Amino acid sequence: MPPTIRQQRGLDAIRPYVPGKPIEEVQREYGLTDVVKLASNENPLGVSPAVIAAMQGALGEMNLYPDAAAYSLSREIAGFLGVAPEQVRVGNGADGIIRELCVSYLEDNDEVIVSRSSFPVYDISASVMRAKIVKTPLKGYGLDLQAMAAAVTDRTKIIFVCNPNNPTGTIVTRGEVEAFMRQVPEQVIVAFDEAYYDFVESDEYPETLGYVRQGRPNVIVLRTFSKIYGMAGLRLGYGVAQPELLAPLHRSSESFPVNRMAQVAGQAALNDREFLRETVVVNQAGRHYLYGEFERLGLRYAPSHTNFVLVHVGPRADDVFHGLLRRGVIVRPCHNYDLPEFLRITIGTPEQNARLVAALEAVLRESPAVW
Ligand SMILES: *Cc1c(COP(=O)(O)O)cnc(C)c1O
Repeated sequence: MPPTIRQQRGLDAIRPYVPGKPIEEVQREYGLTDVVKLASNENPLGVSPAVIAAMQGALGEMNLYPDAAAYSLSREIAGFLGVAPEQVRVGNGADGIIRELCVSYLEDNDEVIVSRSSFPVYDISASVMRAKIVKTPLKGYGLDLQAMAAAVTDRTKIIFVCNPNNPTGTIVTRGEVEAFMRQVPEQVIVAFDEAYYDFVESDEYPETLGYVRQGRPNVIVLRTFSKIYGMAGLRLGYGVAQPELLAPLHRSSESFPVNRMAQVAGQAALNDREFLRETVVVNQAGRHYLYGEFERLGLRYAPSHTNFVLVHVGPRADDVFHGLLRRGVIVRPCHNYDLPEFLRITIGTPEQNARLVAALEAVLRESPAVW
């Protein structure tokens, strides 16, 4: 027997990230051709034509390494947000920035505060650094910011505030964030993950970039091109914070965290506001359609500020999930989010939504005990 090669101890604590099932896999496993994926909050309208054109124009430059510092794209993002270019760090998805933040700041036994039933990537990146994850309970379906502030100790290094929260779709309000920020000491990093920023319509939604503009040393705001911009496959996101907060991320970074195609696409996407507007309109209509259908089927759901809805299907959620798969509809089961009786369903096109509802109704009628 060869000696066991011991893995890094932080990894023992990790519950691996379970992505949405790929369409190709479901086609293979179930012998289906027509499969709809409503599992990863991707944009159902596809890729913006302006982004496709820009990428086509750049195909012949893919022999060249990308700009490691993403100089042009960072400047465009900064201009767009009204911050300084030094306050923007572009990453390999928002996930890439989360990883860089954890690698740059966490040491053994530092504490990281996250909410129960929030985005699992925080736990993974923090565990890699052997930090201790402190979980606060939900308040209703949403984050309990008071509990998060109360959980701060002198070992706390980062608090991840997912707003809107994935997978529940809820927001924390401006008032809640202001009270929270008054309590959190300045040596604790507050990461506001705003992956769904452009979907939110509520007047209560806080403008957390204001903290960065005011020079708060401990706030980083995360955004992504994966969701409303329709570029999940390219892996592009960014963090906005004081240059001093970002400096360790530049230092610990991979040499070329953002590929050349993603940088080209990002610049084109920023200038294509029409695509975002269309996406919002389709999403809004789809969300209200799904609410109505869930109500008709007697299913409870969490009102959402995003492009997905968390719906309660009961203790046999797994059977419902598999029943939907057999009918060619992929959604996201939620045991990994500690919500085993729920499914998270991405809002699709009207056709996709109708297909989901028909499949869901058929599955529920097949095994009425479910709900
Ligand atoms: C999708 C998502 C991300 C990941 O964004 P990428 O840019 O694709 O890495 C980050 N945070 C939340 C809450 C998300 O839902």
